[in-house]
Amino acid sequence: MTLSTPVNPVEIARIALKRLSERALPPTPENYTQFYNAILTIKAPESKTSTEMQVAWQVLYKLDDAVDGASLLTECLLENLADSNQVFEQKLGDLKQVRQAHVAQQVSIEETQASLEDMLNVVISTTHNVHSTVRTSHSDLQTIRDSIRHIEEDLAFNRKVLEQDALTGALNRQGLDHLLLREVKRAQRIDGRLTAAIIDLDDFKLINDRFTHLVGDQVLIHMTNLTKAVLRESDVLVRYGGEEFLLLLVDTDVRGASYVIDRLKLVAGRTPYIHHNQRIEVRFSAGIAQLKDDENGRALLLRADEALYRAKQSGRGKTEIAD
Ligand code: GH3
Ligand code: MG
Ligand code: MG
Repeated sequence: MTLSTPVNPVEIARIALKRLSERALPPTPENYTQFYNAILTIKAPESKTSTEMQVAWQVLYKLDDAVDGASLLTECLLENLADSNQVFEQKLGDLKQVRQAHVAQQVSIEETQASLEDMLNVVISTTHNVHSTVRTSHSDLQTIRDSIRHIEEDLAFNRKVLEQDALTGALNRQGLDHLLLREVKRAQRIDGRLTAAIIDLDDFKLINDRFTHLVGDQVLIHMTNLTKAVLRESDVLVRYGGEEFLLLLVDTDVRGASYVIDRLKLVAGRTPYIHHNQRIEVRFSAGIAQLKDDENGRALLLRADEALYRAKQSGRGKTEIAD
C-alpha cells in the first residue's frame, strides 16, 4: 500500500465528487469539504494527520470499493435471474399452446416432439447461462474476499512498521502509547504488578566521538539484543530516546525489576561490542518505578525517569528506585 501519492487538487476534487455521487449525497459545500479533506488525508502524507489515520482512511476506501464491486455483481446476477425467469415463463406458455394443439390434433406427434425438444434445449441453455453467471459471481466474490484479506494484512504490517524503531527493531514511542494503556489497565485489573525501568547509556557521546556514529548505531543494536535476551517474552522493550530504553516488565515488582537490571549489567559487562578487535564496553544508569493503584502510564514513566535522573546524578552505572 503506497502512502506517497503526489497531491493533485483537481484529482482530489474529482474523487470527492465521485464519492458524493456514489453515495447519492448532494454536493453541498459541507459535504464536499468533508470528502475533500478525507481524501486529502490519504493522498497527502505530509499532512498533519497521523500516518495511522491515513492508513485507516485508505483501508476504508479500499473496502468501500470492494463492497461496490460486490453489489455490482449481485445486481448482474439478479438481472440474469430475472431474464431467465422471463424465458422460463415464455417457454411454459409455449408448452401450454403445444399441448392444446396436440389435444386438438392440430399438429402431428413428430411436430409436437420437435417443438418440445426445441423448448427443452432453450431451457437447458438458459439454465447453463445462469449456472455460469453464478459461478463467475462466486469466483469474483472470492477475489474480493482475498483482496480484503490482503488489505487486513497490509494494515497489520503497516501498524507493525509504524510502531517499530527502524534501527533496533524495538518498539518506538508510538508503539508504546498504544501498549502502555493496555498494560496499565491489565495490571490494575489483575494485581497491579507492572514495573517500568528506563535505562540510559553512560557517556554514549564518547563512543560516537571515538568510533563514529555508525559504530554507535551498531552498539545500540547490540544493546537491544542483549536486553531482549534477558527479558521475558511478555515484557516490552521500547527505544525511548536516542540512547535510552524503556523496559516494561509485566507481572513484576521492584525487586524483580532490580534483578533484571542487575542481570543486564552483568551480561553487558561480559559481552562488549567488538569493533576491529577493540572492545567497546557499554554501561548504563537505570531508574525503576512500580505502578501505583491510582496511577496512569504517563505518571509511572515520569517517576521512572526521575529515578533515572537521580541515578545519573549520583554517578554513572547506578540504579535508583522511585518511592
Ligand atoms: P550520559 O552519561 O549523561 O547519558 O552521557 P551521554 O553522552 O550518553 O548523553 P548525552 O545525552 O550527552 O548524549 C547522548 C548521545 O547519544 C548524543 C547523541 O548523538 C547520541 N545518539 C542519540 N541517538 C543516536 C543514534 O541513533 N545513533 C547514534 N550513534 N548516536 C545517537
Ligand atoms: Mg540520554
Ligand atoms: Mg546517555
